[in-house]
Amino acid sequence: MTKATNLAYLIDTYSWNGQGLVLDIIPCTLPPNKILGTKNIDTPIFTVLLDTTLLYPQGGGQPSDKGQLIHDKGDHKVTFFVEHVSMKGEIVEHHGYFENGMLDVGNKVDIQVDGDYRMLNSRLHTAGHLIFSMIKKLELPLIEKKGYHFVDGPYVEFSGIWPTDLTKENFELKVNEAITENLEVTTRYAGQEDGVQENEENPMRYVTIGELTKSPCGGTHVRNISELGRVTIRKIKTSKGVTKISYELV
Ligand SMILES: [Zn+2]
Repeated sequence: MTKATNLAYLIDTYSWNGQGLVLDIIPCTLPPNKILGTKNIDTPIFTVLLDTTLLYPQGGGQPSDKGQLIHDKGDHKVTFFVEHVSMKGEIVEHHGYFENGMLDVGNKVDIQVDGDYRMLNSRLHTAGHLIFSMIKKLELPLIEKKGYHFVDGPYVEFSGIWPTDLTKENFELKVNEAITENLEVTTRYAGQEDGVQENEENPMRYVTIGELTKSPCGGTHVRNISELGRVTIRKIKTSKGVTKISYELV
């Protein structure tokens, strides 16, 4: 039984290089096109387990990171290209393919996160929090339902009906006004003041944007809301009591 993976990506969104130890390598059972996309479908795919990881596993509406695991064998370097990362129970599974041979159990690897992709996903994800925070600040009668922060059409969904006296343009203006306030984005774990016992194993992790509302979240976020640039609200639509707000970053 493999131990729970240490989730080092929770400490710092901007930490893109680190080290890990290979605990297991198994053939990947996910469909090859999910891992390789349009790349050569004949490439054998594997799942690598590490003691600790900097790579974010898909979840909470945020896509997984991509990156590389590199081990120096002395006369050559083996690279495992991580194309998809998922979480099974408390174990993070890195799915991808090898170049220049294979890793062995017990190898130390340099973990390299694709930083541009991490930042794009972190910005999209944080923008979702900002939209939610703005809805709370404006005291709109909406309850957060879910978020989808993928680059192919991000949106946030709420239970409740969008008020007719607030236009999409005005809401967009308020969201972007908040961005100009350069609010800090911080995460913290629930503590004694929240009624959590000191010995509790997995206290809830919260993200806050300035003084705006806090949300429970295990994703990666930018440090400051100014890094979002500009948010465009593409569409606000209420259907069957559910309001969907589609957005994009420019
Ligand atoms: Zn989050």
